[in-house]
Amino acid sequence: MEIYLDANATTPVLPQARAAAAAAMGSTFGNPSSVHSSGLRARALLDWVRATARRVIGASSGELIFTSGATEGIQTAVLSALCELRRKRDAGQLSQVHQVLYGATEHKAVSEALHYWNATLGLNLAVRPIPVAQDGRHHVEWLREQAPYAGLICTMAANNETGVISDLDAIESCLVDSPALWMVDSVQGLGKLELKLSQRRIDYAPFSGHKLYAPKGIGMLYVRDGAPFSPLQIGGGQERGYRSGTENMAGIAAMGAVLSMLERGEAFKDRATLAAFAEQIRRALRDAFPGVVFNAPVEHALPTTINFSVPGLSARQLLDLFDAAEVRVSGGSACSAAKALPSYVLTAMGLPEWQAACAVRLSFGAADDDSVIDEACARIRACGEALKRRCAQPTGPSTAQSLSHVTRFAANRFTSYIVADHGSRRCVVIDGEPDLVERLAEWVKCREYTLVAVLATARRHDTDRVRSAIRAAVPANLQESAAIDANGWPCGLSELRLGQLRLRGWAAAETAASSRAYVLVIEDQPTYVFVGDALVLDGRDPIEGKTSSATTLVALQDAVGLDTLLLPHPDPDATLATTLRTEAVRQPFVAGVLGLSTPAPTLTTTADKPGRASDNRPAVEVTWQQLDELLSAHPRAQLVDVREPLERSLSTLAGCPALSQSLNVPLSEVLNQLPQWRGMDGDAPIFFVCRSGNRSAQAAWALRRLGHPNAWSLAGGLALRGERAALSAPRAGQ
Ligand code: PLP
Repeated sequence: MEIYLDANATTPVLPQARAAAAAAMGSTFGNPSSVHSSGLRARALLDWVRATARRVIGASSGELIFTSGATEGIQTAVLSALCELRRKRDAGQLSQVHQVLYGATEHKAVSEALHYWNATLGLNLAVRPIPVAQDGRHHVEWLREQAPYAGLICTMAANNETGVISDLDAIESCLVDSPALWMVDSVQGLGKLELKLSQRRIDYAPFSGHKLYAPKGIGMLYVRDGAPFSPLQIGGGQERGYRSGTENMAGIAAMGAVLSMLERGEAFKDRATLAAFAEQIRRALRDAFPGVVFNAPVEHALPTTINFSVPGLSARQLLDLFDAAEVRVSGGSACSAAKALPSYVLTAMGLPEWQAACAVRLSFGAADDDSVIDEACARIRACGEALKRRCAQPTGPSTAQSLSHVTRFAANRFTSYIVADHGSRRCVVIDGEPDLVERLAEWVKCREYTLVAVLATARRHDTDRVRSAIRAAVPANLQESAAIDANGWPCGLSELRLGQLRLRGWAAAETAASSRAYVLVIEDQPTYVFVGDALVLDGRDPIEGKTSSATTLVALQDAVGLDTLLLPHPDPDATLATTLRTEAVRQPFVAGVLGLSTPAPTLTTTADKPGRASDNRPAVEVTWQQLDELLSAHPRAQLVDVREPLERSLSTLAGCPALSQSLNVPLSEVLNQLPQWRGMDGDAPIFFVCRSGNRSAQAAWALRRLGHPNAWSLAGGLALRGERAALSAPRAGQ
């Protein structure tokens, strides 16, 4: 069972709301503008919902307009206020006003709307954030000073990332001598705070249905009596001309059902119960993750929102861990971006960068009951247990005899590697990335290996700093130290021995003194070359716009041949590995330099990279149904689960019998299997699976690129288990 703790993003629709929506599409389907009986019934429903909403938000006066959601409500409010400011400016009545203000932690819909409409209307007022203190609340004194010069002030009832509740009384007190209009984004306050809108000076208050158990696509905007108004949509004059367009009656009916339950005290828990739930969850988090820090003060935050960070664990790692345990939470920062940007909300609160970058938001619903919270706590503790055991997690494929030699770590389009020999328990870090320091050190500590060297393929501005940070994070008894050169190579050694493994430095004659590749020799074979940025993949270097040097390519060919696996340091497209022969197929320049003008026929050149939005994007994906069919049709097919062992240990495999027989090769260790998989019969399909389909697509693509034509990835990953999604991926073999 999935435990959904992301209610600030959206909530499920309550059964009563679904029933109300269904009725509004069935028996009460009429258009409220029609004058016949069907229309009158719809009109009565509309009026009833509006009256209920007015009572719930304390808006006995003013207008209450149904919208498509809060973003529309925000646009309408901002447009209305700015049109009024423009009218006043044109009438010469705006002498003192030169700015509009918004809380620094406001939802992007607010700041973006302010910038957009300010520019579009040609107002050119200063658009300024109101600073917040470390507790997330507005700097009232700053606001008091600035308010007299502001034409519009936008604040929020409660913050969506931290749950911090604004001190609306204090803000209102700053407005006494201000001509400013005041918008309060009330999205996260609905059902959780007593808003009493008519008792305040608030001019505009937008709401959203889908944050409170109604469907997406319905919202409301409160407008104070006398507040200026400019419609965003004009046309048929619905909503008394404030918002033209036939009303979303299903959404309105559903929202009405929720508001009515709220009014009657049904389904929703009281504040004390929610606070007790929150404390229970915080206890579970403290037990699971010693050192956890909470990013908002409990006394000023909605009990339903818990924002936290764990030292040494990125938001991504925590999200993956929770997701594997089927607990849905969200990153407090922009995790989907190539680089996990620190949350601007937490940054504005002045929290340390790591805290702002590693934050996770857990938000439960006001209608959740204790069984959900109990189960959530049990799973949070299970995540903590799994994390404690992570050092004991097996590494490497479950059926292979030998353990992995090379582990790949990726962050922000760059890769770091650990080369390790499991007999001698000695290891080397290559190209440590600043954001990977903790993970690299953790790897060494967990396994109690001896860190022999921290090598760099090129000297960068932070090479020494990162090396020192890694060294500092690994206990002294797990390290060897020696005099080293600028790349971290122990002086006087021609090769580094790690048990049976040998690592050699290699440089083309013409390259800069500090540029070096490292050749890993296994059983007398050069098996991997850590090429740093000496080889530009696909002829594109998105980072520095460089191309490969012809001399380096030729020297590399002489040194290791065409088919040795080359492991890059910048790897923005998650290529994982390449060879000179592969690059020759993809880059005419490389083919020309190496005298390989005819592409080798076995190499795939057509499939696009996974994750890239283009018309011919992944040719590597199969659906669940195709996977089932292909596994039974190909007895020699191989199923490989590329999730990390930690994730695997937390998840249940119910509904996927095939998966229990799969080989577990975490993506971080896939490089070790590539030599063997490349040599497999091209007719034997190999299917990769992971949680979301992203890492499995990387593995499939890497293998395709290296010449195995029958590598596939499960579209959408295990997350779509049970959906039997009919994705439009091509069939394997077609
Ligand atoms: N304001 C806040 C505080 C929010 O949390 C959200 C949604 O995340 C919005 C505005 C936008 O709401 P909607 O999705 O209804 O457009």
